Amino acid sequence: MLLAANWKMNKTPTEARSFVREFLTAMPRDARTPTVILAPFPALASVAAELVLTDKVSLGAQNLHFEPKGAFTGEVSAPMLVDCRCRYVIVGHSERRSLFGEEDELLNQKVRAALAHGLIPILCVGETLQERDAGQLEDVLTSQLKADLIGIGTDNIERIVLAYEPVWAIGTGRTATPDQAQEAHKFIRTVLADTLKVNARKVPVLYGGSVTPENAYSLLSQKDIDGALVGGASLKVDSLLALLAAADRAVQEKG
Ligand code: PEP
Repeated sequence: MLLAANWKMNKTPTEARSFVREFLTAMPRDARTPTVILAPFPALASVAAELVLTDKVSLGAQNLHFEPKGAFTGEVSAPMLVDCRCRYVIVGHSERRSLFGEEDELLNQKVRAALAHGLIPILCVGETLQERDAGQLEDVLTSQLKADLIGIGTDNIERIVLAYEPVWAIGTGRTATPDQAQEAHKFIRTVLADTLKVNARKVPVLYGGSVTPENAYSLLSQKDIDGALVGGASLKVDSLLALLAAADRAVQEKG
């Protein structure tokens, strides 16, 4: 189980630091689910400084460039993220795909760069409403997974985290039902095993899309859902604590 908080373009370094302080103070000592804070670039250093004494909460970024350094004004590389003590990095969030034109070939390079520098990519895949309504869910997931992971060896694929994020559910308040999410996660595992020839159980698959403290448990208790990637509901300390409690309950239930 993994709880990943995608803050998107929210929180200054000062706000991020006080959030993490408050969160760590209030977090139950026996919390079991590892949490990842995916902070904006300028807040990485201040969040990292707050996390030095805990191994339950780790740090991640929301994007990276595939080159390690060079003339790429405005970009941030994997070695820079590693030096900021990031462990994770999101690749292929639907906002990057749709608003910034990031395509599968580029995302494949980003996944490779993250892995090459010891970062764990959280690779996001998911269909639009139009694609779902046209019955293309499985085709879209298969083609994104194949293209984003092409040429990446089995061992490396087993080091990544996947996030199923139906585009129509992100930031819309419209969540996939637990059954819809479970069905998509199960299908992703089939693609991992049959097409990509990896041990599908080794790859955590998170659900993302309007997860809230109210709906988290019913999603996270599904067999093939191994955690959540949460945007809006991760921005308040109380809400993130409630999500953590729901994740812990689901862990306990699943044994
Ligand atoms: C996300 O940013 O990945 C996300 C799922 O956002 P929200 O939880 O706000 O829908």
